[in-house]
Amino acid sequence: MHFPISKPTITEREKDYVADAVSSGWVSSQGTYIQRFEDGFARFCGTKHCVSVSNGTNALFLILKALGIGPGDEVIIPDFSFIATANAVEYTGATPVFVDIDDDTLCMAPDAFNAAVTVRTRIVMPVHIYGHPAPMNEIVEIADARGISVLEDCAEAHGASIRGRSVGTWGTAGVFSFYGNKILTTGEGGAIVLDDPVLADRLRLLRDHAMSPTRRYWHEEVGYNFRMTNLQAALGVAQLERAKEIIEKKRLIFSWYAREIGDLQGIRLNQKADWAEPVYWMICLELDTRKAGLRQRLMADLMARGIETRPYFYRMSTMPMYETADTPISQAVSARGVNLPSYFDLTEQDVIEICCAIREVVACLEC
Ligand SMILES: *Cc1c(COP(=O)(O)O)cnc(C)c1O
Repeated sequence: MHFPISKPTITEREKDYVADAVSSGWVSSQGTYIQRFEDGFARFCGTKHCVSVSNGTNALFLILKALGIGPGDEVIIPDFSFIATANAVEYTGATPVFVDIDDDTLCMAPDAFNAAVTVRTRIVMPVHIYGHPAPMNEIVEIADARGISVLEDCAEAHGASIRGRSVGTWGTAGVFSFYGNKILTTGEGGAIVLDDPVLADRLRLLRDHAMSPTRRYWHEEVGYNFRMTNLQAALGVAQLERAKEIIEKKRLIFSWYAREIGDLQGIRLNQKADWAEPVYWMICLELDTRKAGLRQRLMADLMARGIETRPYFYRMSTMPMYETADTPISQAVSARGVNLPSYFDLTEQDVIEICCAIREVVACLEC
């Protein structure tokens, strides 16, 4: 038996739409699926606009650029995230400022954000890590009081909400990724959701070489080619039509894991704040902090039984190109966690088998 961490869910619907897009001849970035995808995803999030782009990293960069972020500016981000969160800030010439996280949600700690604000701070960008929402009420309150704009990195949290309000709608804009292992995929792809029509137009201009909408081949500034293709959007439209099914199935998978190993001594699974309605991009298993040294052994023993796991992200501030940060909670968390097989096609029987192996391996870790 072999259980990978992740694989996309592709049905006849995805195949039909992509085949239709290919047959239409509109294989680049014109064609009907782009508009359908953007309209559908804006509706899914509850925003007025959605601007699709080539991937999530470019989406982060483009919204920062459209807001005029550049050298001399600081952007506050949590230290515990995928590296693209920091890199997108770096591309603009601004400085990423890494702050610590909360031990339960694994998202940016509001106090740490507040303490890191300087006169140069322009943006705070919480990340809804592994599908659990960041505490947006508190973050927005602090940001408003201090005159800072809020962006959300929602790359791992399609469909998550806080007291019924979707992630991506709490600040100036929300940014999503549709990479192959994300909750919804377009192969590669990204999107920015927002309400401001002027900012949406600015994003559309910048993603398409900044070509004048009224004068073909005239460019007032340096733009980018960050467009999504009609083929990608066709895949996305099919995924979007199945979004509820995909998200609910992933919640069901988590409930199976929780039933089977939620009470196991020495580990814990994804936590949930009482104000949050998370989604389960990845199933997370954390060893007790004092047993974190056994993680390598845990991963190897599970791999030997055909169960793939991945270690949590390293702190971004420990990478050679960034400045080190004092973020002890991020440090402890990143050393103690792994992601478990989390994909749509898992059956209840699969999860029972995986959990059986986990019980045995965990029981034997110190023997
Ligand atoms: C996946 C991811 C991104 C980047 O998205 P790509 O589409 O892969 O460029 C950004 N931030 C986070 C938190 C992610 O998980």
